[in-house]
Amino acid sequence: METFYDVHRQYDWEEVKASILAKTEQDVLVALGKPYRNIEDFKALVSPAAERHLEEMAKLSQQLTQKRFGKTIQFYVPLYLSNDCTNQCVYCGFNSNNRVGRVTLNHDQIIEEINAIKALGFEHILLVTGEHPKNCGFKYLKEAIRLIRPHFHCISAEVAPMSTEEYRTMYEEGLYAVYIYQETYSQTRYPEYHPGGVKANFRYRLETPDRLGMAGIHKIGLGCLLGLEDWRTEGFFAAMHIRYLEKKYWKSKYSISFPRLRHFPGSFEPNYLVTDRNLLQLILAFRIFDQELELSLSTRETPVFRDNVFSLGITLMSAGSKTVPGGYAKQISEVEQFAVIDNRPAQVVREAIEKQGYEVIWKDWDQSLQFNFLNHAH
Ligand code: SF4
Repeated sequence: METFYDVHRQYDWEEVKASILAKTEQDVLVALGKPYRNIEDFKALVSPAAERHLEEMAKLSQQLTQKRFGKTIQFYVPLYLSNDCTNQCVYCGFNSNNRVGRVTLNHDQIIEEINAIKALGFEHILLVTGEHPKNCGFKYLKEAIRLIRPHFHCISAEVAPMSTEEYRTMYEEGLYAVYIYQETYSQTRYPEYHPGGVKANFRYRLETPDRLGMAGIHKIGLGCLLGLEDWRTEGFFAAMHIRYLEKKYWKSKYSISFPRLRHFPGSFEPNYLVTDRNLLQLILAFRIFDQELELSLSTRETPVFRDNVFSLGITLMSAGSKTVPGGYAKQISEVEQFAVIDNRPAQVVREAIEKQGYEVIWKDWDQSLQFNFLNHAH
């Protein structure tokens, strides 16, 4: 069976990069003027030639987003269940070579976290674990979902890749969305960042969204770790990936996230600094390319950036995040997977959003519609 791996191998990274850099202002204007954009148009929108048209792109992106989603932003909160991991991603604080205290929450600790998170008002929770098959693999997650399901309207997960069968079981247990980040689409450079563990297998990771599609998961989220390799080329491959999935697994919905590596003394240094303007251009390009897509922005970004950019295309945001297991109930902030830069409490972020005339949605509306439909159908 064909997977995205077969599509990916038809493209040469350097050729794609050169073709993006060669896009002209005329190509950008053509892309902006079309009602439906193809992958060549996407290349134009992320090209240096489009940098002079950011304002125009922002207006169009905002218009398209409001037309499809209204003036709303959905909120979610991540729940870190475990920082145990057998992988060696060189950019991550949880990598198995790091001597950090390993914690996998037991049932009582999960309940404590649930209570602390519920008090903040959230209905959409994202379960996050490291990748440790024994300590926080399929069985652990299945039990965790059973425990968490009655308390939240919507459960998503950002966990180790699984088999199609395992995803089917998760779906039946009530898992709504799965986010799986390729980190980089450069097969040549991938091993340098992922020297050991299951994640070292580029192909297995790249084919994970195919397995999610086959399992019928409602929403599938992709993303690249911006800063590892050229962001324009990463964007192209992620856009190709989305379009491939949308055609093949058309019942699922899709999401894209924009995790960005920053320069922090003493931590992993990004090879390609992605500026605020670069990130904005990428967000706008995705929205203009695909109006159905959920675009997600996390607390890795500054309050100023988030407040200025959310209305230009974003539809999903985290707020008040703790990226350490037990962080909500115990207020711990050591050994985080990544530094939270927007530290504002969720209610403060909500106020900042509402000040701009937007409504914060604490539930996932697609799932609300689905449940309403099911309720009416019975
Ligand atoms: S990025 Fe994920 S898989 Fe890689 S070391 Fe960190 S927790 Fe493990």
